[in-house]
Amino acid sequence: MSETDAARTDDGRVRDEGYDDFLDALDSDEGYYLECPAGHGWLPPRRVCPECGATDLEETALPEYGEVETFTTVHVAAPSFADDAPYVTAVADFEGVRLTGVVRGVDPEDVAVGTEVSADVGETETAGERVLVLRAE
Ligand SMILES: [Zn+2]
Repeated sequence: MSETDAARTDDGRVRDEGYDDFLDALDSDEGYYLECPAGHGWLPPRRVCPECGATDLEETALPEYGEVETFTTVHVAAPSFADDAPYVTAVADFEGVRLTGVVRGVDPEDVAVGTEVSADVGETETAGERVLVLRAE
């Protein structure tokens, strides 16, 4: 793993391949996303806004809570997720940026559009890989 300093380019921007850095930050309760001057929010971190082409993206603190926008319940998972099934993957709107993750803290059948979630980092049951968790209270 790289040091925090190495995770940035010389002019202070987050690397393009910064998804792990983002998970590290989220794990430390310092979640962020990148926002361009026009207000487009992006994750994982990137250097150019795909929406308008702006390059002066700023790190913005990730709101504590988001709401589930869409979700899918997975009953039969790929081998690396076999012991996690059934589980719910969802896209949640965090006031300007969308995050995709695995919903935890609630029964799969109780997940609904509008369910309030917070972003967290967890591990998959099967492979112990880091995964973005959308935690319902
Ligand atoms: Zn933009």
